Parts: sequence; structure tokens; C-alpha cells
Amino acid sequence: MIFIAKWVKIIAMKILVTGGAGYIGSHLVDALMAQGHELYVVDNLSTGKIDNIRHHLGEERFHFVNDSILNETLMERIIEQVDFIYHLAAVVGVKYVVEDPLRAILTNVRGTETVLELAFKHWKKTVIASSSEIHGKSTEVPLSEDGDRILGPTSVARWSYSDAKAIDEYFALAYSKRGLPVVIVRYFNSYGPRLDPTGYGSVIAKFIGQALRGEPLTVYSDGKQTRCFTYIDDTVRGTILAATVREAEGQVFNIGSSRETPILELAQLIKNLVGSPSEIIHVPYEEAYGADFEETRRRVPDVSKAERVLGFKAEVPLEEGLRRTIDWFRKLS
Ligand code: UDP
Repeated sequence: MIFIAKWVKIIAMKILVTGGAGYIGSHLVDALMAQGHELYVVDNLSTGKIDNIRHHLGEERFHFVNDSILNETLMERIIEQVDFIYHLAAVVGVKYVVEDPLRAILTNVRGTETVLELAFKHWKKTVIASSSEIHGKSTEVPLSEDGDRILGPTSVARWSYSDAKAIDEYFALAYSKRGLPVVIVRYFNSYGPRLDPTGYGSVIAKFIGQALRGEPLTVYSDGKQTRCFTYIDDTVRGTILAATVREAEGQVFNIGSSRETPILELAQLIKNLVGSPSEIIHVPYEEAYGADFEETRRRVPDVSKAERVLGFKAEVPLEEGLRRTIDWFRKLS
């Protein structure tokens, strides 16, 4: 079966998306289904949600398995029959990592090890999802793919997420050295519909929820800390480009926007777009995260490599992305 999307010829493939019921994974699944591919999703619904993929259930080209990526027998059965793998399944977010570090480390290290080992055995091209968290406390601006990693001690569990993702990248690069086509994408503050409506893991989801409920928007510290918020459509487009551009193989790419937004400005923007009477309050870091929390004051990706090699540039303006996200949150409530 051959589909023509604009001038690009897309040959339908069998694709595995691990973590395909999650926030980014499910949007990736939507995009790949729209391109006409046959999708296999493995997700144990620990943080992923069936509602994110419910609209595909029952479609002939869509196969969902509710299980862990640590189930090697299952993974081998699927990997041997697909053409391509996007590996996004992970325990994501500081709260879950700190709550149960063992589960997070096993999933994030052994899970990726399993996927890559099987991808190598059956020779399947693989995209591995990584994170800007890999840089830890680095103050480099902008953060280039080859920038240093600066981490805290092993007694602080949150750093294990950064290290687990780094091990994943090392594995991927090592397999690439053996010839396997592998690409690594590092996501920077992705946002959009299907973010956790409780606000966990994303300041945008949290502020939208607070604004819709008329509660105060809780800006930590002075609100001058910045992030580069990247709308989900851009996150997904960058991921697919990384998978398809031949020259990308064996390399790491920052997938993010270069627009740097102070958190206080974000709060004002969301308050205005929602039309909310909420006040904006400042909360000290110690109150929010505890005494020994270390904040990244500026997190800005160097986007030049993704632009040069992938032809990728984030396009959706923050105001537009926020509008679409707010609409989704309104429909939920
Ligand atoms: N933040 C905030 N108020 C909140 C939650 C988060 O001011 O209620 C700030 C947080 O200190 C950080 C930024 O928003 O500077 C982004 O936080 P998020 O948890 O979305 O992601 P991070 O980039 O820190 O992983």
C-alpha cells in the first residue's frame, strides 16, 4: 500500500511504539496512523491512558498490548514482525522516580536494553526517546547535544532518571557503532492535549487547571526561570523527521522550541487566554520542592543541529499551542 502525502511518498510499514498510550506516544501513534502505517503499541498503562488511544481500538491497522516492555517474550514476538521501532516507554517524572526508584531504573534501563537487544537481533531501525534532563544541573545556554552533564549525588534519587536516560543513550550509540540504525531524540518541555490533567509533570497543565478552577497560579520563586515550551505537534514532527532522515542515524537531536519563556510570563499568558480571575502568587522553592531542591533556572535547547540535519524547526507559536491545550482541558471538565 502506498500513500502520497503532499510530495513525500510514504510506504506503509509495521511500526512498534512502546509507551504509545502516553502523552507523547499517543500523539505519535495518531500521526503514524494518519500516514497509513500499521501500529503495534505496548504500554502497561502505568502513566499512559487507554483514553489516549481509545479512538484507534478496533481498527484493523492498530494493535494494542497492555503489558510491560520488560516482558521479553512478548517484546521479541512483536519486534520480529515490525519494520521499525519508536521506544518511548519510560517511568517519566521526578515524582515517580523518587517514589519508586527501583521500578524507574529497571524500566528505564532494562526496558531500553531489552528493546535495543531485540532490535539488534532482528535488525530493526529504532528511535530512542531521551530528555533534556540528561544535562542535569548544567547551566550551559543553549544546551547543545554534546554539552556536559552535571549531576548531584547518588543519594538524591531524582538524578537516577538522568543517569538512566544517559545509559539508554550509551546503549543506543554502542549498538549504532555495531551498525544498527539508531537515532536519539531529546525532548524539551513538550506540552499539549493529553497532558496529565492533575498538573503532574508540566507547569502548563498545572497553570491551566488552576486558571480554569479560579485558583491561584503558583509561580515558584521569582518566576524569572525560563523554559522553551514545545507544542506536541512539533515534538511529533521532529521525532518522525529524526526517524526518516537517513543522515540522522547514529546521532542525538534536541527536539524543542528556541523561544525562551519566563514562568511568570507563562502564568500571565495562561490567565489571560483562559480569561480567569485567578491571582498569580509566588511560592518559594523550599515550600514547593523541599529544602535541597536544585532548580534549572534556564533550559534552552541548541536547535541548530536539528535544523541543519533534520530540517526541523518548532513552528507552533506558544499562544496558539496554549489555546489548543486550553480547549482540550475545557472539554475534559
Ligand atoms: N513551576 C512553577 N509552578 C508550578 C510548577 C512548576 O513555577 O506550580 C516552574 C518550575 O519551577 C520550573 C518550570 O515551572 O521552573 C517548569 O516546570 P515543569 O515541572 O513543567 O518542568 P521542568 O522543566 O522543571 O522539568
